[in-house]
Amino acid sequence: MRRPIFAANWKMHKTLSEAAAFTQEFLPLVAPREGVDIVLCPPFTALGAVAWSVAGSRVALGAQNMYRETHGAFTGEVSPVMLADIGCRYVILGHSERRQYFGERDDLINQKVKAAFAHGLTPILCVGETLAEREEGRTEAVCRSQALACTEGLSAEQAATLVIAYEPVWAIGTGRNCAAADAQATVALIRSLLAGRFGESAAASLRIQYGGSVKPGNTAEYMALPDVDGALVGGASLEAVSFAAICQAGAVR
Ligand code: PEP
Repeated sequence: MRRPIFAANWKMHKTLSEAAAFTQEFLPLVAPREGVDIVLCPPFTALGAVAWSVAGSRVALGAQNMYRETHGAFTGEVSPVMLADIGCRYVILGHSERRQYFGERDDLINQKVKAAFAHGLTPILCVGETLAEREEGRTEAVCRSQALACTEGLSAEQAATLVIAYEPVWAIGTGRNCAAADAQATVALIRSLLAGRFGESAAASLRIQYGGSVKPGNTAEYMALPDVDGALVGGASLEAVSFAAICQAGAVR
């Protein structure tokens, strides 16, 4: 039985005071919810404040990105060592916005995934097709190639603890979410590919989220899918009440 995991990707939103206001409102709303993992991924500037706010609670801290090296002359970058030091347990890697706007490719993302594991962080590895790729009938091929390239060189033990977010790019921030049957088909494909590489046991343990215009009103539909183990949530995670409702809908499974 995989434990559902819900992660809030705040992207480039929230100042320190806005992050503090969120956690103050959010933590009491999720305090009694057992059975799901909840992760807040604020921007780097708010990691310290959110770490302090969630300390001792059931909510974990994650970052939205990191570099593959531990330290050095990499101006503007943040390392896995720094993230672990500030209290992060998770890190989102390979988000489509990193791929689209910052040119991140699978080989770099794979290096980051390995670096995250090496420093005790659990990667939330994002894969997903663009609208053009979907319309060309390439959803499976794109997800296969991203999932395999980005997990190359991991051990079965690492793969078993990995979190993958299947995020159709055309569904991110658009309000146009993926039909449940389509999401299940792609997520099941990803799980079976990873079973081929890491074995059935690791593939049965690793968690796969759906991401793309998840809202309180559609969470239950995705959580009813046999291979979907939670959600990576952007827009609807910016309001405490809305993200708490998503976590609550996930706890029902
Ligand atoms: C995301 O940023 O990963 C995401 C899924 O965004 P949204 O929920 O706004 O579609």
